[in-house]
Amino acid sequence: MRERRTVGRLTTWTKPEWQARAACKDCDPELFFPLGTTGAAVPDIEWAKTICGACPVQPECLDFALKTRQEFGIWGGTTEDERRALSRQQRKVNVSG
Ligand code: SF4
Repeated sequence: MRERRTVGRLTTWTKPEWQARAACKDCDPELFFPLGTTGAAVPDIEWAKTICGACPVQPECLDFALKTRQEFGIWGGTTEDERRALSRQQRKVNVSG
């Protein structure tokens, strides 16, 4: 039987201090939480990612999103699908080496 490894997950947290320096702190939240990842949502996603690209706390944001497994929205310049792919890659690295 294959052993299943449990990856640590933050389940409670206080508001991270880096959020005060976020490039998106005054943006419309709907821009970062589009309905879907295709069609009409694509321009919003691209614009949100552009803002993330100039954000001084992008690494902290992405790390937080991965550790807390944020399932929706743009975090650290990534969509939920991209974060799932990153998490899979991290698990492969952890298992193999
Ligand atoms: S990386 Fe993007 S979502 Fe994260 S704080 Fe910066 S602008 Fe906001």
